Amino acid sequence: MIHVILPVGVLQCNCSIFGDEQTHEAIVIDPGDEIGQIKAVLEEHRLKVKAIVITHAHIDHVAGAHLLRQLTNAPVYMNDRDKKLLDLLDVQAGWLGMEPPQRPEIDSASAEGTVLILGAAEFHVLETPGHTPGSQCLWIPAENKLVAGDTLFRDSIGRTDLPDGDSRQILASIKTRLLHLPEDAVVIPGHGEQTTIGREKERNPFLQRL
Ligand SMILES: [Zn+2]
Repeated sequence: MIHVILPVGVLQCNCSIFGDEQTHEAIVIDPGDEIGQIKAVLEEHRLKVKAIVITHAHIDHVAGAHLLRQLTNAPVYMNDRDKKLLDLLDVQAGWLGMEPPQRPEIDSASAEGTVLILGAAEFHVLETPGHTPGSQCLWIPAENKLVAGDTLFRDSIGRTDLPDGDSRQILASIKTRLLHLPEDAVVIPGHGEQTTIGREKERNPFLQRL
């Protein structure tokens, strides 16, 4: 499996591009910005995007989705509970002092139990509300990887002080949905360095009382 992680945009959101060497199909997660760079990676590996997945509707994760959808005709997946936040993209742009991006069309409401297939690998949607109401992670058992959005970071967790954030809920999500994954599962957070479930269980200061 090809897996390229591109930090994009002013907030350096980790955009994950997964590609299957046999079928040359790809899944792009969180195309927050810099679609030109994402396109270059797709072309380099001769990949055709079959799905665009948004972990949550914060502008730094979703701002490039409209353009990538236009370029690839791939459907966009997002959890319905983040619709309200998506409607506030212009307000979010105001927080960062940037131009409001075009709101992407959501083609498919992903939710707990949604499974996307790429080659021989399954991408399981895990609902992990807290950072936002519709936050979701992608668990890829065949790769032993978790794409965690802004739910779990190396040494930290997602902020919950933005509208509709919920600090109890994010801890409950991490405890019930993520910490039972294999200790050596690699976690790709929405920002910053990757980690493992075991490392965060042991060292993440936010998880010590769970
Ligand atoms: Zn976020």
